[in-house]
Amino acid sequence: MFARAKKILGKFKFLRSLKARLFLIILLAGMIPATVIRTAILQNYEDQAVGVLTADAQNQFNILANHLANTGYLHDTSLEVINTELEQFSNLYDGRVLIIDQNFRVIRDTYGISEGRTVVSEEVLRCFKGSSTTNYDRRNGYIEITTPINSITNGLSGEETEKEEEKLSDGVLLTSVSTDSVTTTLEILGRKSLIMEMIVLLFILAIAAAMAKILTAPFERVTQAIGEAKAGFTDEKISVNDYLETEHIIDAFNQLLGRMKVLDDSRQEFVSNVSHELKTPLTSMKVLADSLMAEENAPVELYQEFMTDIANEIERENKIIENLLSLVRMDKKASDMNIESVDINALLELILKRMRPIARRRGVEIIYESIRPVSAEVDEVKLTLALSNLVENAIKYNKEQGWVRVTLDADHQFFSVEVADSGIGIPEEAQEHIYERFYRVDKSHSREVGGTGLGLAITRSAVLMHRGSIRVESRENEGTTFTVRIPLIYLV
Ligand code: ADP
Repeated sequence: MFARAKKILGKFKFLRSLKARLFLIILLAGMIPATVIRTAILQNYEDQAVGVLTADAQNQFNILANHLANTGYLHDTSLEVINTELEQFSNLYDGRVLIIDQNFRVIRDTYGISEGRTVVSEEVLRCFKGSSTTNYDRRNGYIEITTPINSITNGLSGEETEKEEEKLSDGVLLTSVSTDSVTTTLEILGRKSLIMEMIVLLFILAIAAAMAKILTAPFERVTQAIGEAKAGFTDEKISVNDYLETEHIIDAFNQLLGRMKVLDDSRQEFVSNVSHELKTPLTSMKVLADSLMAEENAPVELYQEFMTDIANEIERENKIIENLLSLVRMDKKASDMNIESVDINALLELILKRMRPIARRRGVEIIYESIRPVSAEVDEVKLTLALSNLVENAIKYNKEQGWVRVTLDADHQFFSVEVADSGIGIPEEAQEHIYERFYRVDKSHSREVGGTGLGLAITRSAVLMHRGSIRVESRENEGTTFTVRIPLIYLV
């Protein structure tokens, strides 16, 4: 049923407007009672008027029936007084009077057309048995009344009266009373009430239009406010507090606006950071080149030294761009994941094999501890990048003769990789920022060891893409432990 109503509503486009619906509801709520009341009043009046007319006519016809019985009119219809009286009745009620004798024969008809005919109808028969009847014929506009004519039976004992009950009436007065007067009044009343109803409807129409406009105004304000925010006129939070509903919509919109602002700010910050980071090696190269050019007859050794520095800067620039590209790849959707079953032990061994030469150069020892063999559904390239960054950091931010311990473990749902080092540690206040792009605790040290500030951002993105988590525990000058937990089975 609701689906049908919805389908119908869908056909009339304007009905999809809240304003149009409110207008119609208010209009109907006013119109239906007004029409019902008007019809009820007219019906009531008709019932009352017909009732009064019937009662009045019945009284008069009772008196007439007595009169007919007393004067013996049933036996002699030539009585002038009665005939005049009958004409008067006929005129008074704008109707017809028929007198029927015991043989069901019409002995008198004020219209003079049915005299001598036999009338046997249900009403006449009932009336002969003593009960008068009334019947309102609305369509033809008259009331039919039958009144029994009973001769007076004086001096009858109780027993005889009981027997009399079985006796039929002497005659029946069959009359029709015109209800034209009632119909005319009803028509006038109907016209007047219709005009009244129309006036009331005009008022309701005006009220419905005004109410629909007033009630929907807050929603228009919401649209306007959102439109202004969209056009960028304002960065402020908007507010339309007229209804709880509009307040909720605006709250949700403000939250969205806030989120977009955060995103926009972080995008701007990222772009400015990228520009800055890319500019630094370029500036160094320019300074090196300029100073070489300024030097007349510079020795080959100086050239070699400066060119080595320039090559290092190029390498750094390359690394930043490479890392940025990795980050962009991480920002893509889950559908870009290339998931396959991977032997994590083998993967870690390969990573550590690649890292060992760097570690050796810095005099750092790498220890690998595998608690159990682990095979998991992961994106091998992304996970390798994530774990390599952690191990590389552990080597980079370590001390002379330090160590790095990598531990692989698993339960029935997750596998975990712990990368612990005996390095310089991360100050507590910096720990919540280390995953931000380009964040470095000590910029100059990071630069020295070849950091770009993007490594942990890449690692975190990769871990989150695997629906995993990353945690850090660190004490300054004691060491740092990163723990990565990743589900064994990749769930989309
Ligand atoms: P970077 O390229 O500079 O290493 P990362 O995003 O990998 O950038 O790390 C961010 C910062 O976190 C680093 O600059 C460093 O200060 C700190 N950090 C990361 N790993 C460690 C670690 N194992 N020990 C100490 N500090 C670390």
